[in-house]
Amino acid sequence: MNRWLKDFSGLLFPNLCNACTLPLFQGERVICTKCLYDLPYTDYHLHGENRVAKQLWGRISLNAAMSMLYFRKGSKVQNLIHNLKYNQKTDVGVFLGELLGGRLLLNETYTDIDLIIPVPLHHKKLRKRG
Ligand SMILES: [Zn+2]
Repeated sequence: MNRWLKDFSGLLFPNLCNACTLPLFQGERVICTKCLYDLPYTDYHLHGENRVAKQLWGRISLNAAMSMLYFRKGSKVQNLIHNLKYNQKTDVGVFLGELLGGRLLLNETYTDIDLIIPVPLHHKKLRKRG
């Protein structure tokens, strides 16, 4: 009965992919399988001397820096990030965090890290976004 109600409500209010806005199939969460497959991974976690790390060299003390995805305006990555930042879709953040964690575990550099720190947010923007 519970599953029937869930399926029925899914017909009326389908969960949508946060990247392409198409309805999610059963078993998919946050983003559809096609978008997940097509995400533009940087693979910077595999290369210590990556573009992000080089931008921070000499400016702050850190062991490693990386970004998981390439970001382009109008892209599916932008849709994901905007849903997280401006539409209070916190499940997108959890999903991307799990995805990042899984990728970091593939490189010994990141297996004993204590913290992952996002780009700091100005307090005015935090208040505006909630
Ligand atoms: Zn999608």
